[in-house]
Amino acid sequence: MKRIKLEHLKALYRRISETRALYLPVRSAGKTNFAFWTEDAEADLDTLKTVKSPKDAFFPQSETLYTCRREGQKLHVEPEELANQDFVVFGMKACDVQGVRVLDQVFLKDPVDSFYAARRQHGTIVSLACHAPEETCFCKVFQIDCAAPAGDVAAWIAAEYLYWQPQTEKGEALTELVSDLLEDAETAPVDAEQAAIRAMVEQLPYSHLSLEGWNGNATEEKFDSPLWEQLYKPCLACGTCTFVCPTCQCYDIKDYDTGKGVQRYRCWDSCMYSDFTMMAAANSRTSQMQRFRQRFMHKLVYFPANNDGMYSCVGCGRCVEKCPAHLNIVKVIKAFGKEDP
Ligand code: SF4
Ligand code: SF4
Repeated sequence: MKRIKLEHLKALYRRISETRALYLPVRSAGKTNFAFWTEDAEADLDTLKTVKSPKDAFFPQSETLYTCRREGQKLHVEPEELANQDFVVFGMKACDVQGVRVLDQVFLKDPVDSFYAARRQHGTIVSLACHAPEETCFCKVFQIDCAAPAGDVAAWIAAEYLYWQPQTEKGEALTELVSDLLEDAETAPVDAEQAAIRAMVEQLPYSHLSLEGWNGNATEEKFDSPLWEQLYKPCLACGTCTFVCPTCQCYDIKDYDTGKGVQRYRCWDSCMYSDFTMMAAANSRTSQMQRFRQRFMHKLVYFPANNDGMYSCVGCGRCVEKCPAHLNIVKVIKAFGKEDP
């Protein structure tokens, strides 16, 4: 175990960014989101949840796939270069790290998504334990321990120090890079911090939600339930829940006319949007109820059925905080648990 004084974190950021891009929570215009570190950036490790998850680091909201350029009668197709620079995502919470594992199941399985795979290869994750989990958090329901986050390096903030524990080869390499800024530390302060975090988690209102009945075999019983008709009604189809979610992975591919050719890019999409499943033949989901049902059936039934029981929700609670209609996955789980939605 190593540690560094919090007042020296800027030196740590500076050292990392000498050789790799550093992506971390930055406060700007009153909101904290992951962004690239610069000398002027206001790094913010105190805010528990960034508005958007840090999944952009590996799966950007929009990215060019290739460009077609017309020259007379010739057409040049230029694939976009894959990520080839190392970078560090610093301060990811345990739920968001698990979100990356969910994305891995989607993008690293055959056929591998080469854009995502290149970023995963070059990215090092420094996770940060949740000093003060909030009442919208329910990672425990998915067996995620926010006091012991996964990642290449795990970090904890206790008193005036950031504690640092490499957990993988990538983490060891990053530790080597900053070794002269770190000092050896006892584990006792981290043990105490973990005990305090876990005690807090036990008290959170959604920590003991039951997932009983949600599994890969629940498809027909859940799909046909009349509860969806009651639950979906306030949904505005705004897509906010999908855009803040660390595990949502729907995207669209579009062409942009550059005047000299076409730029093909992909951008996040939402299963909550009416034209998401629009195809030449027809739309396979014609009502908002069907789209609403799809989002939760995918996270709680279809995804675990196809991924050895791994749920595609990590209990980050962002949709609980951000939905303008106060709908969220907690309400769905509770409704099927026969409690009031
Ligand atoms: S559930 Fe809420 S956040 Fe999601 S699309 Fe509907 S209204 Fe928007
Ligand atoms: S569904 Fe909601 S709580 Fe679950 S991971 Fe997505 S935003 Fe977080």
